[in-house]
Amino acid sequence: MQVPFFNYPAIYAEDGDGYLDTIRGVLERGAFIMQKELADFEANLAAYLGCKHAIGVADGTAALIMALRASGIGSGDEVIVSSHTFIATAAAVHHVGAVPVIADCLPDSMIDPDSVRRMITPQTSAIMPTQLNGRTCDMTALSAIADEHDLLMVEDSCQALGARYDGTPAGLFGKVGSYSFYPAKTLGCFGDGGAVVTDDDEAAAFIRQLRDHGRGEGGKVTMFGHNGRLDNVQAAILDRKLARYDRAIGRRRAIASLYNERLKDVAELTLPPAPDADNVRFDIFQNYEIQAERRDDLRQFLAQNGVGTICQWGGWMLHQFDDLALRADAPYAEQMSKRYMMLPLHHLLTDDEINYVADKVIEFHR
Ligand SMILES: *Cc1c(COP(=O)(O)O)cnc(C)c1O
Repeated sequence: MQVPFFNYPAIYAEDGDGYLDTIRGVLERGAFIMQKELADFEANLAAYLGCKHAIGVADGTAALIMALRASGIGSGDEVIVSSHTFIATAAAVHHVGAVPVIADCLPDSMIDPDSVRRMITPQTSAIMPTQLNGRTCDMTALSAIADEHDLLMVEDSCQALGARYDGTPAGLFGKVGSYSFYPAKTLGCFGDGGAVVTDDDEAAAFIRQLRDHGRGEGGKVTMFGHNGRLDNVQAAILDRKLARYDRAIGRRRAIASLYNERLKDVAELTLPPAPDADNVRFDIFQNYEIQAERRDDLRQFLAQNGVGTICQWGGWMLHQFDDLALRADAPYAEQMSKRYMMLPLHHLLTDDEINYVADKVIEFHR
């Protein structure tokens, strides 16, 4: 059996004719930029999350940059991010003129609140937790730290659309939140895409202007903006996918349960918390990230048996990119970088495929 880590053609084939109809409709009307499909998708996304505004943007990184700008973060500010996140989190901080400072993570891959506390200086203006792998950080602890030190919260929720912590959707803990629709994301388009969400009318107006070259009423420019729009074809695809998104999340959670059930007795592995592990979090399982004592050998064995795996970020934690010279204190992340890997998980995988992967993982450890 072959179980590739991800299957892009299958994601298209799932609803190929439907996608082609949708795309043809947009093309025949010549409706390419800032048209009805974008407005529809934005309204449906806001309704799905129960927030006031969703604004489609070019990609997740653009969403992060605009969220930081709308939060007022810029030159002179330090922003604390996790060592275990995509480079885009820190790059967004850098590109608004602020300095990313790196905190450690915990065994569940989320940022470590105690480490965040240790990295605070008089220049710190925000915590930027990554809601990684579709899970949420300890938002109770992080919100308490933010309150205590008068810090803003700017989430990187690019991997966590639909995840919740104590009822609140990932992306809605700070004033402005961000998502990515990169093709391999839980809600992926057929190219690049992203969104910014907020309940704040002023921030929403600011971001609408920011994403369209800073142009406001009648094209009047009041600040330097970006070409940061979500194009209309991608918005139409996303709107189509959003209608069945909850079903895809349900399938992801079922696969995670099956993995946890099958692999829980393998002593050398650290598994992610199961979907029902606590009643505070609703995890959407963007990824199934494990830690393995003999990670590289396990990956090789799985590859020989047709199973694709990936180490997020190529196996580097943020502060291990030496050339960036980031200020960091993240010893656990360093250990983890030698042990972490992801097993295949997306909503089109069958139980047979998951059982095959689990069989091979168990066989390796026997
Ligand atoms: C995908 C992702 C982003 C944004 O990625 P884009 O490719 O710009 O859409 C940012 N942060 C994290 C953690 C991500 O996984």
